[in-house]
Amino acid sequence: MGLRILVKVCETNIFSRAVSGNKPLWITFGRHISCTTMSRTMLKDSPNAALNKTLLNKYLDLPQPDNKIQAKYIWIDGTGEGIRSKTRTLDFVPKHPSELPKWTYDGSSTYQAEGGNSDVFLLPVAIYRDPIRRGNNKLVLCETYTSDMTPTATNKRFRCNQAMEAVKSEEPWFGIEQEYTFLDFDNRPLGWPKNGFPGPQGPYYCGVGAERVIGREIVEAHYRACMYAGVNIAGTNAEVMPSQWEFQVGPCVGIAGGDDLWIARFLLHRIAEEFGVIVTLDPKPVDGSWNGAGAHTNFSTKSMRKENGIIEIEKAIEKLSKQHVKHIQAYDPRGGKDNERRLTGKCETSSIHDFSAGVANRGASIRIPRGVAEDKKGYLEDRRPSSNCDPYSVCDALVRTCLLNE
Ligand code: ADP
Ligand code: MN
Ligand code: MN
Ligand code: MN
Repeated sequence: MGLRILVKVCETNIFSRAVSGNKPLWITFGRHISCTTMSRTMLKDSPNAALNKTLLNKYLDLPQPDNKIQAKYIWIDGTGEGIRSKTRTLDFVPKHPSELPKWTYDGSSTYQAEGGNSDVFLLPVAIYRDPIRRGNNKLVLCETYTSDMTPTATNKRFRCNQAMEAVKSEEPWFGIEQEYTFLDFDNRPLGWPKNGFPGPQGPYYCGVGAERVIGREIVEAHYRACMYAGVNIAGTNAEVMPSQWEFQVGPCVGIAGGDDLWIARFLLHRIAEEFGVIVTLDPKPVDGSWNGAGAHTNFSTKSMRKENGIIEIEKAIEKLSKQHVKHIQAYDPRGGKDNERRLTGKCETSSIHDFSAGVANRGASIRIPRGVAEDKKGYLEDRRPSSNCDPYSVCDALVRTCLLNE
């Protein structure tokens, strides 16, 4: 079939259209990913995609001494977004973070210290099973502290944990929906046509089929890896924009919401690395009428979950309405700058400038799910956090506004 492609340049955006006869049609996605040039160009610059993955199994299958385990210490770097890790051998199987040794790293290489005083401390705070190395090997989530033992600028967990301790009796629960996008090495979404765009949004959300979804094997691998690790992963779905996905953690109690989300993010980057695919948490990876990515945060307290808890939910919304700016500042790593690109009032978002709330309203800052309105109890969904937010900052702000009246 002779399919011709015309590329029309329109202001800053490039639209590609297929022409059949004289009637212009959007090119369907399937035609693009099935054509041979496409499969050859995809991932061609990704060194990790080219390496043979089965060879490693020979070595992972080697018996490991009973009294030696590998502990991978994981921390957040000075950007507040990047995740770093390094591994050490331990001669015991740790059960609780307090049994684990403190460690240091070169903070001048992670935007966290000057070269002259470069040691930054790692304090273990949570232990997970390691789904890559298996056995008794562990992933160890750490907080970071400067040489005088004050939390580093991007250690948002310290302050968040203080808030969680203060409201312990209210048992705050968090369920976070992490949206993200797969990228090829040209920094465009994985599997998108190299000289144009896929067909418009509509068929992709929760879709199935080669013309609708891209990268499902990474999503499946990540889901199982999270379960094995002990992350409280709640589910996953394909998103509105092709090559965009979501997973949810929760409900998690208190600080565990942030802990589980950071470990789930680490595993996502780690597993996608094996496939040679980049994961971006950028809140607006493609300009224009393509959906951005968020980290909707579902929040409840013991009182909200009780009979007639809707009254507590409404009280919380009233408090949130008075602190909109403070929350926008806490909801992305650039004090609201990232969310400016995403919270436009279009593509299922509210405007960054206004606070709004509504039942089942996906264009509002806060949504009360339909089921919650009917049951008159449950939780609220804050739709404002950006996909690259620090969940510790988000959970901290929610608790301080709604429970501590700050
Ligand atoms: P959406 O309809 O917005 O896409 P999802 O199903 O993706 O919702 O996510 C809902 C999230 O809310 C899940 O992570 C779930 O664990 C969480 N959740 C459910 N009940 C509560 C609750 N009472 N408090 C806090 N979070 C909750
Ligand atoms: Mn969701
Ligand atoms: Mn979503
Ligand atoms: Mn949601």
